[in-house]
Amino acid sequence: MYEKNKKILAKALIKIKREGIKNIINGRSVGATSKKTFKNTSPVDGELIASVAKSDAKDIDLAAKASMSAFSAWRDLPHQKKRDILYAIAEEIEKNADLIAVLESYDTGQPIRFMKKAAIRGAANFRYFGDKVIDARNGLSTPDTNHLNFTVKQAIGPVGVITPWNTPFMLSTWKIAPALASGCTVVHKPAELSPVTATLLCKLAHKAGLPKGVWNLVHGFGDTAGKALTEHPAIKAIAFIGETSTGSRIMSQGAPTLKRVHLELGGQNPSIVFADADLERALDSTIFMKYSLNGERCTSNSRLLIEKSVYKPFVEKLIARVKNLKVGDPLDPETEIGPMIGKVHQKKVLSYSKIGVEEDGATLLVGSGKPKGLKGCYVNPTLFGNATKEMRISQEEVFGPFLTVIPFKTEKEAVEIANSVNYGLTAYIWTKDSAKGHRMALNVESGMVWINSQNVRHLPAPFGGVKNSGIGRDGGEYSFDFYMETKNISVALGDHPIPILGK
Ligand code: NAD
Repeated sequence: MYEKNKKILAKALIKIKREGIKNIINGRSVGATSKKTFKNTSPVDGELIASVAKSDAKDIDLAAKASMSAFSAWRDLPHQKKRDILYAIAEEIEKNADLIAVLESYDTGQPIRFMKKAAIRGAANFRYFGDKVIDARNGLSTPDTNHLNFTVKQAIGPVGVITPWNTPFMLSTWKIAPALASGCTVVHKPAELSPVTATLLCKLAHKAGLPKGVWNLVHGFGDTAGKALTEHPAIKAIAFIGETSTGSRIMSQGAPTLKRVHLELGGQNPSIVFADADLERALDSTIFMKYSLNGERCTSNSRLLIEKSVYKPFVEKLIARVKNLKVGDPLDPETEIGPMIGKVHQKKVLSYSKIGVEEDGATLLVGSGKPKGLKGCYVNPTLFGNATKEMRISQEEVFGPFLTVIPFKTEKEAVEIANSVNYGLTAYIWTKDSAKGHRMALNVESGMVWINSQNVRHLPAPFGGVKNSGIGRDGGEYSFDFYMETKNISVALGDHPIPILGK
């Protein structure tokens, strides 16, 4: 399998290097109008993948105009045809799942064992929203005495989608599939650190029969291409996934044109384990939800809150498991942790081990530093114990394979610790006491709670955070609320009284 992955990669890289990574505007692959490019390298070995179009406001303007021209025809395309196209995109993704997984692994450092599933989930997103096309415009009936009121939903217009570098393929599908199902056209600005699979995805969509101009792709940096997208008057809404500070900038950039914004931001989520829980399952899940996807996962549990009475045996087992995690080439199916996305992020993650020991005074239980003999942006999986809620390693989003363990004595204290951060994306609660689990779920400040479960995504369920973790919800009908306007239509049922003026 490892050898097969390397072969798929070598073949694909020849083509990508030769062609370069370009924008796709109005169905055509084009370079930036300035002809500028930037280099995209792999975090696995530091090698050049390809040069990428370094776009600016001019390219965004071309893409926005293309999405405007394509809008009404796409919005008005019959349901069945839209659904067929979304299904065809899902099929293309599935046909290319191996290639997508290998390229995503090499471009981002994410282990291949998780990336295969990410591609399949991407296809599921298109299929799910393909099925929803038929209902997307449905509204409410709110009859009054003399009037029949009903609402319909209509696509808001061309929208901007701005995505981060962590699992960029899956997250792009997650945002773009509902936008297309709503009848919106799209300008996508993927993260500059992970441009490869976004380009492949857009190409596959065109291969599947998506009309030109419906989905435009513009590469470039946040403060130029990204900013121009959020400021463009033709773009009606921005769906954003990324850091909290960027989300805040996007809100202010979009304010002069009254952009509707949906922000999916950072997290510092707790796994709260009570002594009465199934401790083996809680351990498996906590490890998975922190160390899978390199810990570069917004929904990961970065803080383990563990009841004091079971702290020692639980943490002993945790130490053994974290020490045993397999760090290596992400293309190797055996690998559990690959390199961080890039050198800057590697440095950030490494700095938190120092912060934990020197500034915070917590106990370093496993890890810190770089693994020996690996050339890329690798870090050792890290575990800190005996932390308190105020420490920086408890408060800040490290976004790497880095877990902070905080003991608690009572349910009340667990809630206080869980809610002591500025974030509120997810919480994982482990207890066999059903009433306690429900109380905890109501009391923790987060957009999503799993009880006795890792993060298992159900596509119709709302996804999103509170506090600094975001504004808005994705999933099922919630996605349509964002990408569509609700219009009320009121029909008089007879000759109701009209106030007479000027007679
Ligand atoms: P980032 O905010 O640095 O970048 C995200 C995107 O925003 C990139 O495409 C970037 O080019 C663009 N951008 C940057 N500045 C911009 C600006 N001024 N205007 C417009 N666009 C701009 O985030 P990242 O480092 O790529 O991603 C990691 C972060 O994403 C983490 O904080 C993580 O928690 C978060 N995230 C959240 C979710 C969620 O669902 N809540 C999901 C995945 C990732």
